Amino acid sequence: MRTGTEYVASLCDGRDVFIDGRRVDDVATHPAFVGIVATVGQLYDTAAGTPEMHIGDPDHGTINRVHMTPRSIEDLRIRREAITRWARLSNGFLGRSPDHVGSFFAGFASAPALFDQCRDGFGENVRRAYAEIVRDDLYASYTVIPPQNSGLNPGAATTSGVTQVGVVAETDAGIVVQGTQMLATGGAISDRLFVSCLRPLSPGQEDFAVSFMIPVATRGLKLFCRRPYAVGQPSAFDYPLSSRFDESDAMAVFDRVFVPWENVFIYRSVGGVHDQFHRTAAHVLANTQAQIRLTVKLKFLLGLAVHVSEANERSVAPSVQDKLGELASLASVVEGMVLAAEAGAALDEFGVCKPNPRFLYGIMGLQSELYPRVLHIIRELSGAGVIGTTSSYRDLVSPETHGDLTRYMAKSEADLEQRMKLFKLVWDAIGSEFAGRHHQYEIFYAGASEVARGYSRRQYGLDEPMALAQEFLDGYDVLGAAGDPQLAPMA
Ligand SMILES: Cc1cc2nc3c(=O)[nH]c(=O)nc-3n(C[C@H](O)[C@H](O)[C@H](O)COP(=O)(O)OP(=O)(O)OC[C@H]3O[C@@H](n4cnc5c(N)ncnc54)[C@H](O)[C@@H]3O)c2cc1C
Repeated sequence: MRTGTEYVASLCDGRDVFIDGRRVDDVATHPAFVGIVATVGQLYDTAAGTPEMHIGDPDHGTINRVHMTPRSIEDLRIRREAITRWARLSNGFLGRSPDHVGSFFAGFASAPALFDQCRDGFGENVRRAYAEIVRDDLYASYTVIPPQNSGLNPGAATTSGVTQVGVVAETDAGIVVQGTQMLATGGAISDRLFVSCLRPLSPGQEDFAVSFMIPVATRGLKLFCRRPYAVGQPSAFDYPLSSRFDESDAMAVFDRVFVPWENVFIYRSVGGVHDQFHRTAAHVLANTQAQIRLTVKLKFLLGLAVHVSEANERSVAPSVQDKLGELASLASVVEGMVLAAEAGAALDEFGVCKPNPRFLYGIMGLQSELYPRVLHIIRELSGAGVIGTTSSYRDLVSPETHGDLTRYMAKSEADLEQRMKLFKLVWDAIGSEFAGRHHQYEIFYAGASEVARGYSRRQYGLDEPMALAQEFLDGYDVLGAAGDPQLAPMA
């Protein structure tokens, strides 16, 4: 299985990644990425060194369990445990670890016939892509949402001239795509970039109705990264999350990128683009991975909240206990829905054991309020403790400052270090720029809140609740129910 060292070495491949107006020479050693690259390397080393993360697959030999195609509820359990093990390494702060897009491909590859309906051979392309992810333990990222100022957004102005990535030419060997895509989390540090359109498209928008995957080092693909959060920070002690888990987000520009037919999965098919996500188990499997990750993150945040209340010696105060109780409820709801979706899973038309979408999308529909609520409660519990920290670790080691700080701010030197460490970590989870990005991420990663709730409404299955209500309504009328004296009109 792939090791961390192999992953790091693979990043030096001439990819075009830009920060601060300059091309990054070597992603693996650039200060913006060095922490996250080490973290992803740790994911790979953990998978390679943990037999409990391996499973024999009839088509692909021994594989990482996070990439398995679940065929039973037991498979889903095994997969969940492996995803949890990986999520534990970042305490859920890696949104798009390699198991996220890998999950989409497990769903895609289960339904080659669906892709063949678009064009003969696309099914084989998607199967091969999944086989490569699984065999080589590849890290695929994705960019599937158009820029906000492109004409493809419902209701958006179309005056900017910005165009979502789409087909501009076709040859015997492949297609040429050009345009922009809004965001690729982890794009700069991944092996492959999956490109498609998750937004519903309409007839007439076939140029954008494509789906393909390319190596990140493909000529013409340029990734423009947002400001990195690890750069310029004094130490990992001061920003323990920013320094390790800043997976980076990048706008993707496709400057006449050539994509060979072997890497194309859907071509100029509005229905095909939709079906790949929603008729296969792809969208459900990937979002299940996301909720398993969130379960770990919420447990971690709850743990931080308990530590804060103990550090302030307030954990028995009724108002503090109430807040911890609410956090526990929120964490348990997410975990419970993951387990409910797993317990209620059923085989889909392609033989994949698909977690029950009622519960999966149910919790996703609450996420845009749930996560900000969690942050708010921890802020309330923390008070100014997260602001009353020293400017950096240097205050703790400098002979000029360390004596006063120990004497006036804590019980002992060890106590001072523990308190600073805790509150700096809490700030990085709830208040730093890294935390702000996570706040935004958890609200939007699965679409704006009305999009997530739209999934929930459609997937709940409204027939059952409507039938319940109708059955009751049918039980009486203006003249009461025949033979039921209780329901007779009042005199
Ligand atoms: C941190 C982060 C990481 C991300 N990573 C990835 C990634 O790896 N890959 C990827 O493909 N995408 C990624 N995304 C993008 C994500 O999928 C989108 O943010 C999400 O789909 C919402 O789309 P949007 O940002 O265009 O918001 P919008 O759709 O523009 O929504 C913004 C607001 O506008 C409102 N709105 C939208 N349309 C209308 C309308 N017609 N009328 C009135 N109000 C409207 C919405 O309700 C919402 O309140 C990421 C996003 C974030 C924040």
